[in-house]
Amino acid sequence: MEPPKKDYSTAILERKKAPNRLVVDDAEGGVAVDSSRVALSPATMDALHIFRNDVVVLRGKRRRETVCYAAKDESCPDGLARVNRVVRGNLRLRLGDLVTVSLCAGIKDAARVAICPYEDSVDGISGNLFDAYLKPYFKDARRPVRRGDRFVVRGNMHAVEFKVVDTDPDECVVVAPGTEVFCHDANPVKREDEERLDGPGYDDVGGIRKQLAQIRELVELPLRHPKLFKTLGVKPPKGILLYGPPGTGKTLLARAIAAESGANFVVINGPEIMSMMAGQSEDNLRKVFAQAEAHAPSIIFMDEIDAIAPNREKTRGEVERRVVSQLLTLMDGLCPRAQVMVIGATNRPNSIDPALRRFGRFDKEIDIGVPDEVGRLEILRIHSKDMPLSDDVDLERIGKDTHGFVGADLAALCSEAAFQCIRQKMDVLDLEADTIDVEVLNSMSVIMDDLVHAKEV
Ligand code: ADP
Repeated sequence: MEPPKKDYSTAILERKKAPNRLVVDDAEGGVAVDSSRVALSPATMDALHIFRNDVVVLRGKRRRETVCYAAKDESCPDGLARVNRVVRGNLRLRLGDLVTVSLCAGIKDAARVAICPYEDSVDGISGNLFDAYLKPYFKDARRPVRRGDRFVVRGNMHAVEFKVVDTDPDECVVVAPGTEVFCHDANPVKREDEERLDGPGYDDVGGIRKQLAQIRELVELPLRHPKLFKTLGVKPPKGILLYGPPGTGKTLLARAIAAESGANFVVINGPEIMSMMAGQSEDNLRKVFAQAEAHAPSIIFMDEIDAIAPNREKTRGEVERRVVSQLLTLMDGLCPRAQVMVIGATNRPNSIDPALRRFGRFDKEIDIGVPDEVGRLEILRIHSKDMPLSDDVDLERIGKDTHGFVGADLAALCSEAAFQCIRQKMDVLDLEADTIDVEVLNSMSVIMDDLVHAKEV
């Protein structure tokens, strides 16, 4: 009998070798998502005999492991495991990598766990971290942890990153109400290089969900699986043009794609490169492309590409013409499987040379417009996520009242509101002290008036 027909749109998922090898995806819900949780589809849970709230072991790269509790996610496609960025960091995994998920049988409640903050995340603050951060984090939660895990606790005004340095019994345990949690405030740990969170993540980008999905498909897939394209006989796109007003998040989006997919990120600033001495602009372009190819997978981000590549018919400058031709040559010279993607950003897509927008060059264009009300609210939530908001704060109202604001304006609004709140607390702040007590930090909260004031400045 012939096997049933397969759906090739999910071909990439079939790389998995065993049923419990799942493809890592971002946890939906962004910043608010719990780092103790892995979301799986009901069918995946059935196939792996995992029930809701079971503790599972996740195995990543470099023999890294962590433990999470399983959550059923009806919207999650089969074969995917959704975890947030902190969990991915613990596993040394990027989106699209494979993770092994298995039931953690016999995990015990911990008698004791020892936890240290990371030095760079408590720089400049002092006071009782246990009461301010760890107690609320572990309260009523029954969180599974593994020795060596890193986790982030968002307190008021400030997020602190901690490391689980020891557990009793050893390795994987559940921090239960009876667990003694030792917080070694006095011995913060230094971060190893590989533990650094590199660049912004998808959860830092708001209001452009559709564009994000589109660009992920165009960039992540070819960068990660160039062979797939070769097999299917299609050429992945070499260039993508993002267009939209300044401050809408084009650079942020490109950086997030690079960080999340693990690609090397090179920036070319249009006006900067054009201001160089004769001949140097082309030279620099060549160097950047060579460097990107040598360190592939890479993303070359060209900000204000209209300055580098203006329409040759409309410009009289000899330099511009030479630079445009150089750019065309470099783009055409990129081997489709070189795993180098060029992302151009411009405010004025119609002013760039039409030759650049042809097939095989910047042949995909994505409109990053001014955010609507829902988008503005999403962006406000992102930029106020580390801010203590008092109960009277109505972010939806601010989202409604900020018509025409772009992401950068909303980010500025949030930081202005925080400054406004600080100005009013000057009387309790000891400006002579080297550090600020966490209690003082946590007693501060941004009120609606601060945000309304910030909107007006
Ligand atoms: P562009 O490249 O479109 O000019 P940027 O990416 O440089 O804009 O945006 C500047 C800053 O504004 C970002 O670093 C970020 O803090 C904020 N910002 C802009 N757009 C967004 C967005 N969509 N979501 C969250 N923050 C944003």
